[in-house]
Amino acid sequence: MPVLPIAKLGNPVLRKVAARVDPRDIRTKEFQQLIDDMFETMLEEPGIGLAAPQVSQSIQLVVMGCEGEGGFPTTTLINPTIVYYGPQQVDNWEGCLSVDGFRGKVTRPAVVRVQAFDRDGTSIDVEADGLYAVCIQHEMDHLIGKVFLDRMTDLSTLTQLSEFEKFWRKEPTPVI
Ligand code: ZN
Repeated sequence: MPVLPIAKLGNPVLRKVAARVDPRDIRTKEFQQLIDDMFETMLEEPGIGLAAPQVSQSIQLVVMGCEGEGGFPTTTLINPTIVYYGPQQVDNWEGCLSVDGFRGKVTRPAVVRVQAFDRDGTSIDVEADGLYAVCIQHEMDHLIGKVFLDRMTDLSTLTQLSEFEKFWRKEPTPVI
């Protein structure tokens, strides 16, 4: 299973709206292989989430997972739709495998509910909070051509990694 090259900021594929996946394709060998390769790439980087446009596939597929306390289950979302946003907004530091060396604070709804197909082609309905909710929203932004920088309302928190380690590290940092 190969590790796939990551498209970096400036690559036009990151700015495209991703196409819906034909549900009949989900169980094909090629599609299952792509999911496996994306998980391997995510773990190798390492990150806690990866969207297909980040590996130059402009389709509505994201993978994510984060072990340990505050983590969340291994999840594959195909053609995801957010059907509910909780009323509370929270700030979190975010980073991105397509945006090397930066962290920034993004305000997002604390709770989301998402409907999608999983990797077996089964319909799933997931309510998420905490890091899981952040990751789902960050990854789904990649499917509409957005990166976390577009979601920052206060660019003064944009921080280079070396300074982040020095001044802000104590706060949790998803790299997605
Ligand atoms: Zn990202």
